[in-house]
Amino acid sequence: MASYRELLTQVKQRIHEIQPVDSEARLGQATFLDVREQDEHDQGTIPGSVFIPRGHLESQAESKLGAKDTPIVVYCAAGARSAFGAETLHQLGYTDVVSMVGGFSRWKNEDRPWITPAALDAEQRNRYGRHILLPEVGESGQQHLLESNVLLLGAGGLGSPAALYLAAAGVGTLGIVDMDVVDASNLQRQILHNMDRIGERKVDSAKKTLTQLNPDVDVVTYDVRLGADNVLDIIDGYDVIVDGTDNFPTRYLLNDASLLKRIPVVHGSIFRFEGQVSVFKPYEGPCYRCLLPQPPPPELAPSCSEAGVLGVLPGIIGSIQAVEAIKLLLDLGDPLIGRLLAYDALDETFRTFKVRRDPECPACGERAAPIVIAEYDEHCLPHAVLADGTQLSH
Ligand SMILES: [Zn+2]
Repeated sequence: MASYRELLTQVKQRIHEIQPVDSEARLGQATFLDVREQDEHDQGTIPGSVFIPRGHLESQAESKLGAKDTPIVVYCAAGARSAFGAETLHQLGYTDVVSMVGGFSRWKNEDRPWITPAALDAEQRNRYGRHILLPEVGESGQQHLLESNVLLLGAGGLGSPAALYLAAAGVGTLGIVDMDVVDASNLQRQILHNMDRIGERKVDSAKKTLTQLNPDVDVVTYDVRLGADNVLDIIDGYDVIVDGTDNFPTRYLLNDASLLKRIPVVHGSIFRFEGQVSVFKPYEGPCYRCLLPQPPPPELAPSCSEAGVLGVLPGIIGSIQAVEAIKLLLDLGDPLIGRLLAYDALDETFRTFKVRRDPECPACGERAAPIVIAEYDEHCLPHAVLADGTQLSH
């Protein structure tokens, strides 16, 4: 039976080792793999490293390291765990693996580049533990969510579930635009609010609920009507917009503003027992005007207050919007870009329709005129007055 020293010596004979100086020459080309423990990693790491503690190497290698011929430099604190790690990677089929002699200690002593990674605290690791377990999210993905900004248009039926789940997920900044007050007739579906909040500003009620759910989240409120005069300022700096508005003029206004600012919009709409979701990513997929060049006549497009809506329906559609927002933030899977998901609660069916970008689209088409942000009437044609007050020449 081999002692630890003998075993290490044998392993080192079977793997390749290189010095920190030669490792540094590979920065930017090879994947640097840190196999130390969390607390060691948190105190300092090589920039751009992939972090997999030695105990998780076998289970997480495939999801975090990519192709088997990826060049990999494995390191630990002093070069022993990385030697065993390199052998494990060989056994898993990785063909270009080296272990760094002397580990991070020698690297640091030789004054090579290192950083202190932004890290979750113990409470956050516990709170977001089920996210961190997902290799597709992990600690770095959770960190990214905490640094992300999502703007919700509306603290109503769609905005309620979307905001609750985004806050629970730890999206660090949630902006909410709504100019209404809570009414008892909202409570059938708008689960951000409750009986005690009737008569309160919806944005204030939303902020209370979300802050109680997750104090990590900074809730920024906009108690205004979204209009041509403020839309560009309000959406500026957000990573993703979740659209829960219920009228065509606002959707067209948002579409044009989001194209200008190049911010993706997760669109949701509900009607009686049916809902729809799509993602409009500026100039990568269709926009709202590609999908619907003109709004339907008002008599064919009654609002929820006229036509009614099943209270659970926005819960489903708004939750899907939250999923899409998180996918966009973390660059996960296939977002609904160029696809419209339609849900029918009575049939209990989901259907997906392709939506193509329209080369003739008046907003995002190749020959589209420069976008002008203007107030729209119920036909979604610009009024004669621009945001800055000047006259439009028709
Ligand atoms: Zn378009």
